[in-house]
Amino acid sequence: MDSRIDLHAHSTASDGTLTPTELMSAAATAGLDVVAITDHDTTAGWAAAADARPPGLALVRGAELSCRWYGARQPISLHLLAYLFDPTHPDLVAALTRVRASREVRAERIISLLRADGYDVTWDEVLRFADGGSVGRPHIAQALIRAGLVSSTAAAFAPEWLGQRYRVPKEEIDVFEAVRLVRAAGGVTVFAHPRATRRGRIVSDDLIVSLSAAGLFGLEADHTDHSPSERSHVQALASSLGLAVTGSSDFHGTHKVVGLGAETTAPAVFERLVAASSGKTPVLG
Ligand code: AMP
Ligand code: ZN
Ligand code: FE
Ligand code: FE
Repeated sequence: MDSRIDLHAHSTASDGTLTPTELMSAAATAGLDVVAITDHDTTAGWAAAADARPPGLALVRGAELSCRWYGARQPISLHLLAYLFDPTHPDLVAALTRVRASREVRAERIISLLRADGYDVTWDEVLRFADGGSVGRPHIAQALIRAGLVSSTAAAFAPEWLGQRYRVPKEEIDVFEAVRLVRAAGGVTVFAHPRATRRGRIVSDDLIVSLSAAGLFGLEADHTDHSPSERSHVQALASSLGLAVTGSSDFHGTHKVVGLGAETTAPAVFERLVAASSGKTPVLG
């Protein structure tokens, strides 16, 4: 039987709703053989996930890095999945620390803008929702839901709320610097949902060509935010560049509707990914 491999999942270390411990049992229940923990800009969930990993489930330790491409007239935000890197690499630690700090400043600013418009949401409750994890807009969405202003996380991302009206940029890592840092830390990078037009502006294929030359390992093609034609486009681009193609759920617990294992990565691609890492942060199990 083919193994079921899901390389993109969030926990309460960022904006997922399951703790890393719960994520491990949910992965086993979902029948996964391999799961990656990829919280936004943090490795804080790694230890608890490793402790809770059930036998028969392999754990890939990773993160989803908030990056920016400065080559466009207006810089574009994008997400890089990073796997099997050394979590103590000083420059990488510094970059992640800076982004997490900026996430707090930015969320507090969004709350001030909302309050200035008379909405009764507080920074305190956002911090409570984030519960020590990397603060993200889904935590502000929770406050909007609590205040009865919207009925779901998805609704909170509409243009009149977090999608545009109350959109505030955060500091992000230059995407080429991110690829370089993760490689220096012995890890591997995959461009997350590169064609997800429904999330905002996307980058051109030219950038992906340059990232490939800079050492990018793969592209996430099978993702719920990609239409069938977007998936085929990503697959064709990857094959023309010799990049690997992954598929993943981007599970966020109840913050999103997608289930663990809803999208998967082929075993041969996973083997190639592991082989491309330095081995200093091995797959567990
Ligand atoms: P942030 O990292 O704080 O900018 O927030 C981005 C996160 O918000 C993403 O990782 C998703 O989890 C979530 N998100 C972004 N767009 C949407 C959307 N349209 N509906 C629901 N969640 C979204
Ligand atoms: Zn997220
Ligand atoms: Fe993402
Ligand atoms: Fe994600």
